[in-house]
Amino acid sequence: MRNFFFLIVLFFLSQWLLKKLRRANERAQQGDAQAGSATAGNGGTRRARTANGGGNGAAAEATPQLADPLIRCVQCGVHTPRSESIVVAGERFCCADHARRHANRPTGRDAR
Ligand SMILES: [Zn+2]
Repeated sequence: MRNFFFLIVLFFLSQWLLKKLRRANERAQQGDAQAGSATAGNGGTRRARTANGGGNGAAAEATPQLADPLIRCVQCGVHTPRSESIVVAGERFCCADHARRHANRPTGRDAR
């Protein structure tokens, strides 16, 4: 009798796992599409973050680690997840402070 019960639990567990795997696959594809549009503008990353924090619980759950590659900060060289990095003028930074510092820094043309 105990074995029978165990089998039922196992069955539900495998079903749940399969569903989860399929969802993860779908979300990974969606995440790629979102990431592509996010790189288009400066506000992209910020907008994506607020969307996650908002009422859409499914989106907050759908942050696959594979679709969030590490990015090197141009100012300090620290590696940050892309969702947390800031893009300014095509350069990526770990925080707004470093983006400002990099912008204030004289360009090579002016220094010479
Ligand atoms: Zn930095």
